[in-house]
Amino acid sequence: METNRRIPEIEFSSAEEIIRCQEKKLAESIQYLNKNSRFYADMFSRENINPDDIRTIKDLKKIPFTTKDDLNYYNEQFICVERNKITDYVTTSGTIGDPVTFALTDGDLERLAYNEYISFICSDGSPDDIYQLMCTIDRRFMAGLAYFLGIRKLGAGVIRVGNGLPELQWDTIRRMKPTLLIAVPSFILKMLEYADRTGIDYNSTSVTKAVCIGENIRNSDFSYNSIGKKITERWNIKLYSTYASTEMGTSFIECGSGCGGHLHPELIIAEILDENGNEVGEGETGELVFTTLGVEGMPLLRYRSGDLCQFFSAPCACGRNTIRLGPIVGRRHHMIKYRGTTLYPPALYDILDSIREVSMYYVEVYTNEIGTDEILIHVNIQGDTGIVEGLIKDKIRAKVRVAPRIIVEDPETLKKIVLPEISRKPVKFIDRRQNL
Ligand SMILES: [Zn+2]
Repeated sequence: METNRRIPEIEFSSAEEIIRCQEKKLAESIQYLNKNSRFYADMFSRENINPDDIRTIKDLKKIPFTTKDDLNYYNEQFICVERNKITDYVTTSGTIGDPVTFALTDGDLERLAYNEYISFICSDGSPDDIYQLMCTIDRRFMAGLAYFLGIRKLGAGVIRVGNGLPELQWDTIRRMKPTLLIAVPSFILKMLEYADRTGIDYNSTSVTKAVCIGENIRNSDFSYNSIGKKITERWNIKLYSTYASTEMGTSFIECGSGCGGHLHPELIIAEILDENGNEVGEGETGELVFTTLGVEGMPLLRYRSGDLCQFFSAPCACGRNTIRLGPIVGRRHHMIKYRGTTLYPPALYDILDSIREVSMYYVEVYTNEIGTDEILIHVNIQGDTGIVEGLIKDKIRAKVRVAPRIIVEDPETLKKIVLPEISRKPVKFIDRRQNL
């Protein structure tokens, strides 16, 4: 297979050229949607939008947002191609009712491969690398397949181990000598715990890097968070954070400078907006609203991701001029209001991750009798329960000024909730609030 190892020039072009490139693709996408998408054609006529008038990123603001509920209710209306043009069917869990289907054409799979290919290049990958893929490639998920296709396009090697099973992961590392892992960071920690218990000397293995999926490894100032620290303090490897979703079909990945995930301008337009739909300033937190470019099966316009983050536009040390996204602060719907304080679950995760005696946890939120949010933290504690419980409470009080209830659970009970078979990453948040 031909591999084109050229880094796309557009990522190094000026900010103006990047916008020009995106606007050209946007205009094409709008015409495509008007012709092929029942959902968007209806929206344009309902809202009196002339597709010819949407030419610039500013014009995009005339178009209403698309929400997860739209995808749920009108799922089939988003599909722009005949059934015989669909190659791969992917699902994401819906907020209501049935899961949402994502239909990918052959062209979409090629786009996905290209996205991961340029992402791996951005994160210092090369054809000489061997990637150990520690996530599921089947079960109707998109991510594992996307990584596989991207690695193949890069011309590198791939070992599809899948998730879980620390023993099998280490055995594969020993036998096949991968240079890179693609893994959920909290699982890398579990692997290190296993290695310590069984005497594996991880610092003398072939692994030098890990692409971290599904969880943050950094704080908002790009320093390592508790998980990032815990991994790198023990294991001398370099970590690269990546953020992606099925809806985007695109990833934001860190370069070697580790200061936010780079946007790929040919594939997606990102807006970071406040509650009123206005753009937030650089370094301020807002919701990522995105428009996919070059998608055939189910392109999305101004889709509200629900993910809150910050953006940075200063040229990066790697030479790219594309904007970068900071770590995901939380999900918009997950905001917890606790006696005058507002916070997002990842702030609690980071505190729990910093305590060595906490081996597993999840955060539960519910509505109390007076209609406000209550937080319950379910943990497994290794060591003196009383002392560790006190430590958790103190740290949480000091950092986020809330005093949640702590419930100590046995590891088996916790495992059933945190690591269910069907999930691709640990379940750390359970929302039992009313009126969501
Ligand atoms: Zn960079």
